[in-house]
Amino acid sequence: MASNTYNPALFEDKWYRFWIEKGYFHADEKKVLRGEKPKFSVVLPPPNVTGVLHVGHALNSTLQDIICRWKRMKGFEVCWIPGTDHAGIATQWVVERELAKEGLTRHDIGREEFLERVWKWKNQYGSRIINQLKKLGTSCDWSRERFTMDEGFSKAVKKAFVTLYKEGLIYRGKRLINWCPRCHTALSDLEVEHEEEQGNLWYIKYPIVGEDGFIVVATTRPETMLGDVAVAVNPNDERYKHLVGKKVLLPIVNREIPIIADEYVDPEFGTGAVKITPAHDFNDFEVAQRHNLSAIQVMDDWGRITVSPFKGMDRFEARKAIVSMLKEEGFLEKVESHVHSVGHCYRCKTVVEPYLSDQWFVKTKPLAERAIKAVKTGEIRFVPKQWKNTFFDWMYNIRDWCISRQIWWGHRIPAWYCKDCGHINVSEEVPEKCENCGSTNLYQDEDVLDTWFSSAMWPFGTLGWPEETDDLKAFYPTDLLVTGFDIIFFWVSRMMMMGYYFMKEKPFSDVYVHALVRDEKGQKMSKTKGNVIDPLEMVEKYGADTLRFTLAALAAQGRDIRLSEKIIEGYRHFANKIWNIAKFIFSALENVEMKGAVSYAPEDKWILSKLSKTVEIVDKELENYRFNDAAKAIYQFLWSEFADWYIEFSKQRVYKGTEEEKRTALHVLLTVLRDAMKLLHPIMPFLTEEIYQKLPNKDAESIVVAPWPTSELKFEGDEARVEIIKEVIRGIRNVKAELNISPSTLVDIFIKSEDDKLIETIEKMVASIKQLAKVSEIHSVSEVPSGCVSFFLPGIEVYVKVGELINVENEISRIMKKLKDIEKDIQKLERKLSNENFLKKAPKSVVEKNRKELEELKEVSEKLTRTLQQLKYLQ
Ligand SMILES: [Zn+2]
Ligand SMILES: [Zn+2]
Repeated sequence: MASNTYNPALFEDKWYRFWIEKGYFHADEKKVLRGEKPKFSVVLPPPNVTGVLHVGHALNSTLQDIICRWKRMKGFEVCWIPGTDHAGIATQWVVERELAKEGLTRHDIGREEFLERVWKWKNQYGSRIINQLKKLGTSCDWSRERFTMDEGFSKAVKKAFVTLYKEGLIYRGKRLINWCPRCHTALSDLEVEHEEEQGNLWYIKYPIVGEDGFIVVATTRPETMLGDVAVAVNPNDERYKHLVGKKVLLPIVNREIPIIADEYVDPEFGTGAVKITPAHDFNDFEVAQRHNLSAIQVMDDWGRITVSPFKGMDRFEARKAIVSMLKEEGFLEKVESHVHSVGHCYRCKTVVEPYLSDQWFVKTKPLAERAIKAVKTGEIRFVPKQWKNTFFDWMYNIRDWCISRQIWWGHRIPAWYCKDCGHINVSEEVPEKCENCGSTNLYQDEDVLDTWFSSAMWPFGTLGWPEETDDLKAFYPTDLLVTGFDIIFFWVSRMMMMGYYFMKEKPFSDVYVHALVRDEKGQKMSKTKGNVIDPLEMVEKYGADTLRFTLAALAAQGRDIRLSEKIIEGYRHFANKIWNIAKFIFSALENVEMKGAVSYAPEDKWILSKLSKTVEIVDKELENYRFNDAAKAIYQFLWSEFADWYIEFSKQRVYKGTEEEKRTALHVLLTVLRDAMKLLHPIMPFLTEEIYQKLPNKDAESIVVAPWPTSELKFEGDEARVEIIKEVIRGIRNVKAELNISPSTLVDIFIKSEDDKLIETIEKMVASIKQLAKVSEIHSVSEVPSGCVSFFLPGIEVYVKVGELINVENEISRIMKKLKDIEKDIQKLERKLSNENFLKKAPKSVVEKNRKELEELKEVSEKLTRTLQQLKYLQ
């Protein structure tokens, strides 16, 4: 082999180039349409063009790649479509920041020039994350790569918008929306991050008109009082019943507003009387609608006050000014500190302002119904299935989706307003004249669509919709979506709504929701904490295969992934082990003539049978997306069965056997190595290709397109007997260890068994047993001589002659002393574990560790007691 030790840097990039050159990742839709091959299709969740690969992306793409590579080897025509998302606000923000360095804002250079700048940025940096994904071995069909703002997608988005508008499922309306005064755009409910903050509750006195006295309202936002249109109390609140219908005079503003009664008011909050400001509060907006009160806007889109005497003042400055004026004029009763939830822009963290404006909405309720039904009936399956409930919670309470954004980067809304008659012309093409009055005096809506509007169309937009393409026919609906739980609402549910609406069919069958990758202590990774693991750095240090195997091994369903560099480093030993296995086999191959007959020994049948079972396990686990269990099965097979046992068994024949024995052993070694590499390929693509290419028995041009191993070879009887022989060897080693006999000291053993086949197998494997257990002779007897200690296995009794090797008296006293020590430790642990106080206070992991220790000690104690009894017979 090219390198003496495992050195992934020498071959990872080379094999990736080879795969791309050969076109292995390219899906042929014709093969599917002609019925030659079954299809398996997946869309890659498109990373943002601004994205830089983080460990979450690495996990997401590794899991998809495992399934895609596995399906490809199983004979499916795999179509895995990659692409990137234009990420409206995020991308605009990056370019605005660049502009700021030149002292410019986007308004300084205008829409057209700004968009040119964004495209330039996109063309320069937009494929960065795609190239990073390739480093991980991602086997997407790159010839099908898409961008949510490419030409085809732009067409699809327009078509979808126009269709939904014509069907009455998109409408324009004046609504209160979440507004970021810094990003200068509307935000959907999901884009607002709520945080508990320490604030104040101001108690303001509103004088009652025509009477002496006040009604006192409590508010967290005194600056909005400028826009008050009423004071509301609960209709059942006895304190205020006599005031309902009367008027108060709004301080500072000197406007008369009514006192109204509404169930919404909580009598327990503040004074039980609240101000109603419909233009600046979501609940107040609804109250005002119920009472036919119009909204008064007192802030502009930069968050500045628009009414005198505070005109032009920032909202937070205005708050101070208003409070001090209220105080001066005697309207402020008191101030209490108060913790409340404040919404922030998810991008820039600015405090979000409820803002009254004209926006575009998707009427989601009718679309949600079909998606809900699909999940209910199992037409679409969530894995793990508890995510179903999260999905239902959201979908049952879904609100109309505000899809307009007041930014420039994105799909511009295809609506043109008529200056003459006010009609809104919605169409895919630029209209020449108003469809209502014929005027040519038209202007297009300034807003763009929410980024999620286009990504909601990802599963069919990427396949060529609205054209009736062969790709759509061949690959829609897709089979699998792999995603994080944080975008189930943003994205997964909306793909379902759009997919069913436009395609009349589900967008995907299975939704695998993967966990969050945390650090080893279970904390979220963040730059400020300094606990971020950079996947590219890990690839550089340990190889992509090692990182991939680690992620797969940790990806247990429903559990957070706790990753550390140490764990990754640990799995590099596994890669190394595989390298050494292959090295041994290839060097053994050098002086063997492979042509000629083979004849299986029992251990050959045992390992081939084990291999078949591992194939079955891996198939079953991958079928159910239990990535960690699949990884574990392969790991155990390769390390514990193949390396630790079979290779050791095989050495007898490889080094000392007849030509036919050598040939048979090598034949089996090569078969198992090849098929094990295939099983491992989906998880570790590079290393397995490097080894596969050197195999004299490779059965394809590349392991990527090699047939998946079968599980036909099964030899139940031989398998069971060799398992017993392994136990015999282990048992002899244990006896030596317990009696302080060096492992290399040769011992005689005597066996008693009525199982002729087992005896026969032992005879066939006698050389291996002698070598591995360091045995001088094996005697099959019916009478056991004196001086032996024994252990029993199913169908066989094993006696190890130790009489002359040890001083029985000394051993007995040594073991008795050891037993005493262990007994002490056991008692100590038992006391600890029955102490309620300890159980309550100690961390779970500590309790668990103690329990395990106790179990282990008890086991050792049992074994020693047994040995002690046997030794006493020898006295
Ligand atoms: Zn913002
Ligand atoms: Zn018109």
